[in-house]
Amino acid sequence: MSESTLITLNESDVSVNPAEVKTTCAYCGVGCGFVVSEGAKKEDARELQADKDHPANKGRFCVKGSSQLDTIGLDNRLLYPRVDGRQVSWDEALDETARRLRDTIAEHGPDSVAFYVSGQLLTEDYYVANKLMKGFIGSANIDTNSRLCMSTAVAAHKRVLGSDSVPGCYEDLESADLIVITGSNMAWTHPVVYQRIMAAKAARPHMKLVVIDPRKTVTAESADLHLQLKPGTDAFLFDGLFAHLVRTAALDIEFIEQCTKGFNDVAGNSLKRSPSGRVVAERCGLPEKQVSEFFHLFAATEKTVTVFSQGINQSANGVEKASAILHCHLATGRIGKPGASPFSITGQPNAMGGREVGGLANQLAAHMDLENAQHRDIVQGFWGSVHIAQRPGLKAVDLFEAIHNGKVKFVWIMATNPVVSLPDAGRVSEALKKCECVVVSDCVADTDTLRLAHIKLPAAGWGEKDGTVTNSERCISRQRAFLPLPADVKPDWWIICRIAERLGFGKQFAYQMPADIFIEHAKLSAFKNDGSRDFDIGGLASLSHQDYNELGPTYWPIRAGQSTGSTRLFADGKFFTDDGRARFVETGLQGPVIENTLQFPLILNTGRIRDQWHTMTRTGRSAKLQQHRTEVFAEFHPEDLKKYGIQNDQLVSLISPLGRCVMRASVNAGQSPGAVFAPIHWNDCFTSAGRIDSLIPAVCDPVSGQPAFKQTAVKAEALLSEWQALLISRERLSLPANHYWNYRLLDGLHVYNIEGKEHFDLAHIKRQLTDENYKIAELTDSDSNSARVIAYNKKTVFAGLFVWPGSESGNTHKPDENWLLSEFRTQSAENKFIPVRMLALGRAVHGNVEGALICTCHQVREAAIQSAISNGCCSVETIGQCTRAGTQCGSCVPELRKLIQTAGLATQQLPFSADSQVAPDNFMQEESVC
Ligand code: SF4
Repeated sequence: MSESTLITLNESDVSVNPAEVKTTCAYCGVGCGFVVSEGAKKEDARELQADKDHPANKGRFCVKGSSQLDTIGLDNRLLYPRVDGRQVSWDEALDETARRLRDTIAEHGPDSVAFYVSGQLLTEDYYVANKLMKGFIGSANIDTNSRLCMSTAVAAHKRVLGSDSVPGCYEDLESADLIVITGSNMAWTHPVVYQRIMAAKAARPHMKLVVIDPRKTVTAESADLHLQLKPGTDAFLFDGLFAHLVRTAALDIEFIEQCTKGFNDVAGNSLKRSPSGRVVAERCGLPEKQVSEFFHLFAATEKTVTVFSQGINQSANGVEKASAILHCHLATGRIGKPGASPFSITGQPNAMGGREVGGLANQLAAHMDLENAQHRDIVQGFWGSVHIAQRPGLKAVDLFEAIHNGKVKFVWIMATNPVVSLPDAGRVSEALKKCECVVVSDCVADTDTLRLAHIKLPAAGWGEKDGTVTNSERCISRQRAFLPLPADVKPDWWIICRIAERLGFGKQFAYQMPADIFIEHAKLSAFKNDGSRDFDIGGLASLSHQDYNELGPTYWPIRAGQSTGSTRLFADGKFFTDDGRARFVETGLQGPVIENTLQFPLILNTGRIRDQWHTMTRTGRSAKLQQHRTEVFAEFHPEDLKKYGIQNDQLVSLISPLGRCVMRASVNAGQSPGAVFAPIHWNDCFTSAGRIDSLIPAVCDPVSGQPAFKQTAVKAEALLSEWQALLISRERLSLPANHYWNYRLLDGLHVYNIEGKEHFDLAHIKRQLTDENYKIAELTDSDSNSARVIAYNKKTVFAGLFVWPGSESGNTHKPDENWLLSEFRTQSAENKFIPVRMLALGRAVHGNVEGALICTCHQVREAAIQSAISNGCCSVETIGQCTRAGTQCGSCVPELRKLIQTAGLATQQLPFSADSQVAPDNFMQEESVC
């Protein structure tokens, strides 16, 4: 295709308002609104504030969200298209992608190609990707990484409620009298929703919080009741709760009779399975008294919200678990009412938008079903397509298996990193290596997946993209551009439409801007709907481009003629099934599918940490966020460390039948004995062997296809080291092979922690530091395995390598990393003593240990907080006044509480005055009683 036929897109096509732009966070499914404005102090600087008017966050944000401007620089950005390693023009990249796609289809049929997309895409990007694959290529081989986080909730909603509808909204969490959180460390994963709950609890102290989690997480620490159940037994607990509700007649009989179907059969089976609370307690490994307390609390509290997330969804029987939760709410009629609802909370910023456009392989657009012939006709007619897919496509795990076995020969991966995030990640990597054509469009230059791509397409990142996202409470928000597109970067929707054009579908993809796509999406949702389908945004179908640009947060459904959407669904007791009744569905409960064994005695649970997001492609660029947990780690109960001869802080191998990861052992008394936790974030760009999903077998829920990331049998082995090293450099360096390493980028400084048993090849590093501009100073002591190498000149210290004896010999020569980093950042270049001090000591002469970073927003470390506590600050509030810790986003408040408790100081919640209706902004107010 010639250049003249291309629709070009430049800065003027993107509504960039440099003064002030309202947009939405790119991270979790809370969907917080932000205001990005021109910095007052520096011309090219921008400031980010939480949007006080956005209904999701009402002026709050968390540390990840507030650090988002740290991640918008052009370092590690993919800026130009590349084909087979060559930088090429867009024309050539698009022609080549389209040619390979067309040739594969021509030779092997439409099911030989696939798209693997992402909850990071905006709804408009998602819509055109889905339209192209299902409506025009004629295959449903498009699946999304949202399969990994919430497809279980989708399947359970559809099975029980008749549609994929989240019934409630965040306000329900504030008006509930009981909140049950299961399978979510919300304080870290959805911090703003957690802040809202904590503020409501402070304002209404009778509100109870029950947390169900095999780990004592920071969320569990805030609970009135923590049920630390055996991993994987949640389905038994909720089935047992359902049986208890039936046994004690704590039911809404009228609702059951008029609005549901199937109650008697399911109730009968449930009573047989769970004849008493004692049986449930035994199965779940819980004290009977705790189970009974939970059951009574739930039965007695009308305004109850049950929040569930990955701990439920990422299970081999996740749909059973989620269905059991929905049954408890249906049985009590607690759905669609203020303060009473089941509530699935999503992981990604636009997982919900992906569901709306049919981004899963078994869905059609606008919440229609691929397997429903009438729905296929509606969509086909609306799109004017010739080849609409006739059957569901391959779900994520099956899709990569089909690539591995050669059935899928062309895959286009958009804005996601499956080599890290899918289970059996080593096999995914093998599959992509074997695949005839791997196209990756992404905003970053280097990920584990991009390393395997034949064609790399540079896509717009947050701050450059323009479109909409939908959060966990069905609120559609605009994500607006406030930066111009850099270099040859293009938005995803533009790239997809240009490929569609080259495949001969130019007319159906002739959108000029995201607003055109959104309006078509809105029209399709209302097309032949007449109230028969839950997803209907017909009220937005006649937006002008200006209306779209100015669109404020809007809940769906918003049907034609309505000016506002609905925050709650099912208030009228009508569901989207044939007869309008919700279904009790026999669950055929299974227990935990993967049990520990003698050979693999520990159960591995994976999840997120407070300051990182997914595979660190963005958060890994923020120096601030790199300081909370600096190294890849695995958390063990103290008894397990002792049992397996592992020291806290020692390197450890986690081994499953699929592979081995190397991580730093970390003690956490909140772990259940026999269970180990490891984060999902680290990958081959950040550490030597930290892709935890390479240990997880590809076992999926049979209904939803969601992998069971929460339960894998592993063993742990301590690794003995002869030496450890810290390398700080102003440029990225290559490391000698066969050692453990962990990498961080901190304000332009490349920081490596290295450790090993075999000889460390100093010369390998020195060769890279040898430069006429730098002198090298070196001290080595082979007897003690110690070395110092400093590369410096009159102006700067370029790099420093510090090697000291490893875990076998103790760490007496260990340098002070914080001091060194601060010297690198702030050194007076002329000060010749700095290299000398670095060389000799690697630490301040009168240095003190600053401890872990607790408050990322204000950079407050543990030592400062301990000092404040010992000086009499014995509440979160007084620590905040003294050190500023915990006064911005509040994400560290649970850790502050823990430090206070550890210091033996009692605290107590200060109830707000009885007439206070609104929690104060600073929700963590506490009164000291010490
Ligand atoms: Fe972003 Fe934090 Fe809000 Fe999630 S809670 S949307 S990460 S600011």
